[in-house]
Amino acid sequence: MDRRSFLRTTGAGAGALALAGTLGGALSGCRGTGASASAVAPGTGPEVVVIGAGAFGVWTAYHLQEMGARVTLIDLYGPGNSRSTSGDETRGVRSSYAGRELWTSWANLAMERWRAFDEEWSPAMGDPLFYPTGDLILRDTSEGQIEEVQEIWDTVGVPYESLTPDEVRARWPQIQIEGIEVALYEPGAGVVRSRAACRRVAGIFQQRGGEIRMAKATPGPIQGGRMISLDLDDGQDSISADRYVFALGPWFPKAFPDIMADRLRITTMGHVFYFGTPPGDYRFSYPNLPSWGFPGVTGWPTLPPDNRGFRIRTGGRMGEDPDTSVRWIPEEFHERPMEILLERFPVIAEQPIVETRACHYESSATRDWIIDEHPEMENVLLAGGGSAEGFKFGPMVGELIAARALGDDRFSELDEEFRLIDLDDMEEDQD
Ligand SMILES: Cc1cc2nc3c(=O)[nH]c(=O)nc-3n(C[C@H](O)[C@H](O)[C@H](O)COP(=O)(O)OP(=O)(O)OC[C@H]3O[C@@H](n4cnc5c(N)ncnc54)[C@H](O)[C@@H]3O)c2cc1C
Repeated sequence: MDRRSFLRTTGAGAGALALAGTLGGALSGCRGTGASASAVAPGTGPEVVVIGAGAFGVWTAYHLQEMGARVTLIDLYGPGNSRSTSGDETRGVRSSYAGRELWTSWANLAMERWRAFDEEWSPAMGDPLFYPTGDLILRDTSEGQIEEVQEIWDTVGVPYESLTPDEVRARWPQIQIEGIEVALYEPGAGVVRSRAACRRVAGIFQQRGGEIRMAKATPGPIQGGRMISLDLDDGQDSISADRYVFALGPWFPKAFPDIMADRLRITTMGHVFYFGTPPGDYRFSYPNLPSWGFPGVTGWPTLPPDNRGFRIRTGGRMGEDPDTSVRWIPEEFHERPMEILLERFPVIAEQPIVETRACHYESSATRDWIIDEHPEMENVLLAGGGSAEGFKFGPMVGELIAARALGDDRFSELDEEFRLIDLDDMEEDQD
């Protein structure tokens, strides 16, 4: 099957998902790729330890469990913690990726999965995680990336509207769009409650019999090309399993310096600001405003029920180590988001900052996910490199990682895409 047919077929799987309304439906849909489904009875499959309970780790644990594995999830600080890159309040879910058909297609599928997950779990577990705000891209010209985004949307079949500046003003007069000539609106996009999502997915995993442990895990001894155990600092020296999946986000270079230090750049921290909205004025609250992107800056409305604030992400600053980097945003960086408010959302320009977040990006050298076996340990899978966009893909990428860990070939066409690249090859390509 060629890559394009593969994308289309997984897309058909998502259609089945929408009808079925459950993740189980999604899994059956993806099995339609011609891959072998793992037909293991629950809790009788191989033992797998997942290390890291950010977006990649919790969704991997969830899917491994669905596929019948016996799973332990270990995190140094707990699912959705404040140091993790997934531990912010919110993350955007849009599919507008210039030049990236796979990401576009998977983001589009991920939206359906977030919706289906809420349909299945929200009635029992509380507020939804996914808020379908729609997403509005605003630019001064349609050249370059905007054209590429449209081309891929047309190919993949993502619904969108191309709006004139007057149409944008009529729909959302609270946005100041002076100098903007081009607007693309993606109605299916949205914003997900990220910290809450990590906790919910981990909570469901636990309710279904999965074990969660809080500990620092360190790769243990190797025998015959396999890791035989994992060292823990929680007073129980080690844990053994058939397979291990490391999903360490920006901690990868610390745990695997030889392999990951040059393949992941973790030194940039992103700054996220949440501003108050005026009492009684709901123009900046969901569902009255889409998520939006002006060049170099993105944001979205405040979400019910607890309204953490109107979100703006700006450029950030350098950080060295995800364990010790200070997450407070110094005042010298507060000016930029305020300028953006004044220019684009003047009605709320005087509102206070009510929360801030700073977290490490984990950008891979290929600017794509890394999902591959450790070169010296065949039972160890490394999964990360979300590269500033990874959260939204969690429900999809977790299934891919789980399938790979269990030797299920439903996504094997993509093994090459996410492999640990040879850095020498990459340098030559760049020359
Ligand atoms: C400012 C900013 C804005 C972003 N915006 C978006 C967005 O709008 N949409 C989007 O989709 N993506 C976005 N991203 C990217 C996205 O948040 C990340 O790609 C994703 O959250 C990474 O998840 P992860 O599971 O790989 O890593 P993490 O969430 O960092 O999880 C890694 C986990 O591993 C644990 N850990 C580390 N070492 C050990 C150890 N030795 N033992 C045990 N546990 C360990 C940590 O405690 C942590 O919980 C953004 C990123 C940033 C920084």
